[in-house]
Amino acid sequence: MPPRLNVTGLEAFPGIGPYRWCLLKITTAEGLVGWGEGPLGTSPTEGQLRQVKQLLQGENFLHVEKVWRLMARGPVGVTQATDMALWDLAGQALGVPVHHLLGGKLRDRVRIYADCHSGVDWTSGEFAERVRSVRAGGPTPEPYLPEAFGRRARQVKEELGITALKFDLDVPVAGLRLDWEDRSLTKAEIEYMVQICASIREHLGDTDFAVDCHARWNTSDAIRLAHALEPFDLLWFEDPVPPQNLDAMAKVTAATRQPVCTGEALVGRHAFRELLVRQAADIIQPDIPRTGGLTEFKRIAELAELYYISVAPHHMTSPVATMAATHLCSTIPNFLALEHHCLGIPFWNDVVRLPGQVIERGYVTVPETPGLGLEVDEAVVRANMAGTPVGA
Ligand code: MG
Repeated sequence: MPPRLNVTGLEAFPGIGPYRWCLLKITTAEGLVGWGEGPLGTSPTEGQLRQVKQLLQGENFLHVEKVWRLMARGPVGVTQATDMALWDLAGQALGVPVHHLLGGKLRDRVRIYADCHSGVDWTSGEFAERVRSVRAGGPTPEPYLPEAFGRRARQVKEELGITALKFDLDVPVAGLRLDWEDRSLTKAEIEYMVQICASIREHLGDTDFAVDCHARWNTSDAIRLAHALEPFDLLWFEDPVPPQNLDAMAKVTAATRQPVCTGEALVGRHAFRELLVRQAADIIQPDIPRTGGLTEFKRIAELAELYYISVAPHHMTSPVATMAATHLCSTIPNFLALEHHCLGIPFWNDVVRLPGQVIERGYVTVPETPGLGLEVDEAVVRANMAGTPVGA
């Protein structure tokens, strides 16, 4: 008879760090503490936490499928974090790592790819300021020069041992149009992006790199750009057109030999079913908290495997979700690489207490301790929090 757990409290820690992570702590009468993480920007109210607590009352949440269906009636954001925390608690209660409960690991470590932005990390505020200055007639900011991209690529590869990197192509450049309402691309704009990729490739050698277009271009110019970048053998070409029109995305995917990647904003397996059936991408990138937690993500990955499509999770979270993602990704046959978007956040690693770094030489080792196998340093969380903790 598996142990029943009785939830005694939920506590949310919103607004942590520049991406506004939200951690959720669930305590039980049996003395266990489970941790989860919601989508970026989640800021639960006390009433929402009370609602989730009530939904869990009397339930054996080792019965994951039943509890997941109950949670689907709960408040968005809190329920995804709860899903993660319940897996943590279930593993601890049974004395096994979460990957055992998800079917068992296929690999001992999970490959990380680093989102590098450009020649430097930036916040959205800094980016907006640079756009304003270039539009006002200023020079191209140094981090957006092709050579800066290349140097940054080599630095991240050499210092961190990362085996896959990603860069943004939509940067403000003096002399180009900078009209992002018009989705078309000029010859000069395409040539600038070719120079960026040439510099990265020159500094990286054969190391994998992907590029993100942030859904900026129209369909035909996205195809022109994809063709122009084909000599660089990208790991993937991300969101070339807005993902709302899957037929347009499918047209780009069919037109180029670059693997097209999309899906960071999609929620739930039905949205991904639509994408997969239409063959609108070669690689999908569900965001684990946003798309529905570990439970829903696992279903999406299994659907994708039927189409021989790889999964590279979009991931901008704290190490709590990274550790959860590590368990999950270790069990997925069609896993490609997990994003690390927090190179510029100095306290990222300190959110959890581990003997070493969370990411070592480009990989996260799959924990073998019960549950998610992590201990959160609440002092670090509180010291970097803009929000106020909420409990129920
Ligand atoms: Mg993206």
